[in-house]
Amino acid sequence: MTQENSSQVFRADENGYFGAYGGAELPPHLVKPIAQVREAYAKAANDPEFQAAYRDLLVNYVGRPSLLYFAENLTREVGGAKIYLKREDLNHSGSHKINHCLGEVLLAKRMGKRKVIAETGAGQHGVALATAAALLGLECEVHMGEIDVEKQHPNVIRMQLLGAKVVPVSHGGRSLKEAVDSAFDTYAADYEDTMFCIGSVVGPDPYPSMVRDFQSVVGKEVKEQMLKAEGRLPDALVACVGGGSNAMGLFDAFLPESEVALYGVEPAGEGLDGQRHAATMAKGSAGFIHGMNTLVLQEENGEPSPVHSIASGLDYPGVGPQHAALRDSGRVNYVTCDDQAALAAFSQLSKSEGIIPALESSHAVAYACQLAKELDSDKIVVANLSGRGDKDVDYVAERLGL
Ligand SMILES: *Cc1c(COP(=O)(O)O)cnc(C)c1O
Repeated sequence: MTQENSSQVFRADENGYFGAYGGAELPPHLVKPIAQVREAYAKAANDPEFQAAYRDLLVNYVGRPSLLYFAENLTREVGGAKIYLKREDLNHSGSHKINHCLGEVLLAKRMGKRKVIAETGAGQHGVALATAAALLGLECEVHMGEIDVEKQHPNVIRMQLLGAKVVPVSHGGRSLKEAVDSAFDTYAADYEDTMFCIGSVVGPDPYPSMVRDFQSVVGKEVKEQMLKAEGRLPDALVACVGGGSNAMGLFDAFLPESEVALYGVEPAGEGLDGQRHAATMAKGSAGFIHGMNTLVLQEENGEPSPVHSIASGLDYPGVGPQHAALRDSGRVNYVTCDDQAALAAFSQLSKSEGIIPALESSHAVAYACQLAKELDSDKIVVANLSGRGDKDVDYVAERLGL
């Protein structure tokens, strides 16, 4: 990768572009609210006081640093490179999502907002955001398609217990797409009082950069922890990619370390030949979604395609624009893992290490095992265990006939 090329994919330009991807293409009523967020974040990012307050929350509330765990049993079973797991599942509230939700709510508070607003599909983002809002004393409103409200009942209850207001969206397909529009419209009408909080490295600038920055603590910790444990950097890092926040968090500190191979794992669902997958890098094309130019799984008319993954946190028809740029530059390898392989990794890690991973994270574990097997025993692979699997046990039990 040339130097010019690398600066375009490591950091966005002044218009929020990573090479050909990103930007902020917004309907007129959202231009001013999002510009306000961009300006506020640019200041906060360079303010030691804001950074110290954020850092304090990560240490004293989330419980950071999370462990970098040598999975010795799994390594022995697989046979090959050493497998380490970055234990984001041990964070308070059970996944990496709390890292960026706390950052976003802290920014909202600094901007003098009374309330945060978001959409949620499976409910994981809504729960993490409701958690952060409860702690920092802001109101929280989460828009959710009626179909998802029914399917994700436990997360609806969690959000309500945390003091959030869940708004069911009953028009159109009553799913995530309608929830996004509904949440954005409510936000635009009330933005003096409210901040919109996005749940991954997606959406208009500044969100892809801001969410990455909040998550980058993950990779910084891995670097330090690995130097301490092994006296050197790992040979490969592996993370699952839905929108791409846990992957960007792990990768960011390693982007300039060209000897460390980076792998993003997309969900191949029931196979790449049909429509039952969400492998945007493998099968998508350049397009537009949620205020950004990026790769999209889309129909001929430009509408996002219906997508599927066994892991509800991965079934997104777009992907963070920085990932699209990192793919084109060749710095990150994007690969896939199907439902069956993720399910097998879920079972294997549970039995071999006593760690029940989220189905999302199981995609990374599956690929890390495959990679480790091909490598010599003096190599080191780190997989991001983005979340715990408690939320998935009922579904997995059904699938496995338990
Ligand atoms: C939401 C979620 C993901 C997918 O989101 P990214 O932005 O791609 O990281 C992965 N793992 C877990 C546990 C999640 O909750």
